[in-house]
Amino acid sequence: MIRTTGLSKSFHNHEVLRSIDFQVDKTEIVVLLGPSGSGKSTLLRCLNGLEELSGGSLTVNGVDVDSAMSHREKNARFREIRRQTGMVFQQFNLYPHKTALENVIESLLIVKRMPKADAVAAGERLLKRVGLAEKRDAYPSRLSGGQQQRVAIARALAMEPAVMLFDEPTSALDPELVGEVLDVMRELAGEGMTMVVVTHEMKFARQVANRVVFMDGGVIVEQGEPASFFQSPQTERARRFLNQIT
Ligand code: ADP
Ligand code: MG
Repeated sequence: MIRTTGLSKSFHNHEVLRSIDFQVDKTEIVVLLGPSGSGKSTLLRCLNGLEELSGGSLTVNGVDVDSAMSHREKNARFREIRRQTGMVFQQFNLYPHKTALENVIESLLIVKRMPKADAVAAGERLLKRVGLAEKRDAYPSRLSGGQQQRVAIARALAMEPAVMLFDEPTSALDPELVGEVLDVMRELAGEGMTMVVVTHEMKFARQVANRVVFMDGGVIVEQGEPASFFQSPQTERARRFLNQIT
């Protein structure tokens, strides 16, 4: 579903991703771990075309992008990739002047040009799926952080993406609201969604991930099944990281 080959990203002269080879299979749940500044967000953003690639290439659901392509070609391909990937951010990024339902159906109306009645029906189904059917007419400011993030997930699902990318989706939440968001993500995983999740929720990683990928300094240092990664990390850097966070 996802493959990067020699993917590099620099900001000015600072190389933030160094020749990353990364793969995600269909229906796989990959948790990306690593210290702050290790390049996790940048990797997710490169997968989605939110950052320009400095080098290498990637494929998402059959759409190839190579850093050597023309801007025009890359933009066209990333537009396609963005339709097939849903992204959920730490800050929910909902439109404050739109209701929960309006947030969810925006892309259906604008990108898919779906008739309003069909979009509303689809939006109601999506809100129900994240447990928020009764909040359809609420504005984000009237929702808790956990509810806002669930609306953001419903919005990302509206385009029926092949892959969901989550960048610390629970890091901005009060502790008592984390569980309801993780529950929705668990359900998605159970339904066979392909997911890449940056998170510090180690219990989620242990229970839900098929694979943990540990990054540091812009490279993948180590990866493996959660059970073996957490029990017996192979590298000193991973050991140090796990000691710090647990
Ligand atoms: P993580 O998500 O693992 O904390 P990031 O991908 O956000 O790490 O950042 C990796 C490195 O890239 C950091 O050193 C950060 O300062 C740098 N960086 C990220 N975005 C930008 C940007 N837009 N401009 C300059 N440097 C950036
Ligand atoms: Mg980050």
